[in-house]
Amino acid sequence: MKTIGLLGGMSWESTLEYYKIINETVNKKLGKLHSAKIVMISVDFEPIEVLQHKGDWDGTAYILSKSSKDIEAANADFLVICTNTMHKVVPKIEKHISIPILHIADATAQKLKDDNIKKVALLGTSFTMEQDFYKQRLTSYGLEVMIPETKDRKTIHSIIYDELCMGIINKESKIKYIDIINKLIKNGAQGVILGCTEIGMLIKQEDVDIKVYDTTLIHAQKAVEKALEC
Ligand code: GLU
Repeated sequence: MKTIGLLGGMSWESTLEYYKIINETVNKKLGKLHSAKIVMISVDFEPIEVLQHKGDWDGTAYILSKSSKDIEAANADFLVICTNTMHKVVPKIEKHISIPILHIADATAQKLKDDNIKKVALLGTSFTMEQDFYKQRLTSYGLEVMIPETKDRKTIHSIIYDELCMGIINKESKIKYIDIINKLIKNGAQGVILGCTEIGMLIKQEDVDIKVYDTTLIHAQKAVEKALEC
């Protein structure tokens, strides 16, 4: 079994899910008392969130590159960055390490392709929904990516930072998310990507009529697949 390197803390609420899913999946596959081999660094999210909203992505890359180097030095075989948004700085992190990064958008796009989904809605932080680093990765797989309208993007973004990243699960926020997804369904979405690792805490498959792609679950399961491949 390979050792999985987890770069977590963004936020720790979803890193907890990664840790749980990875261990449960390994145990399901190998049985007995088997669990995953993991090296994890969990960063302090507050300074990163401040840098993100200032647009200082180099500042965030500096912090994450240092932690990634430490994860490599602790003998991880590959790196899993437990957030969609911070995949924006993957090209910068890659310059500092020699182990591969298991990209969250690749894992997600492959799943969508397997299910023959062509038109997909993307929910995430404003950075993920509006900038190219994530959408382009998805469209390179031949997917058509839809995002919510401006005011809905603002709602989604603020619920992520003001509630979900702080472990707050609010019923009204859930209704707002469902309404936004329903609008996207009307416009032709065949599936919805929960493109922020905390959204799965709020939205479940049974809440909507199209297939839900929870990036936390997909990414964590892909990490186990990679750790167990020969
Ligand atoms: N975890 C979230 C994501 O998947 C948002 C927090 C962050 O900005 O990293 O994008």
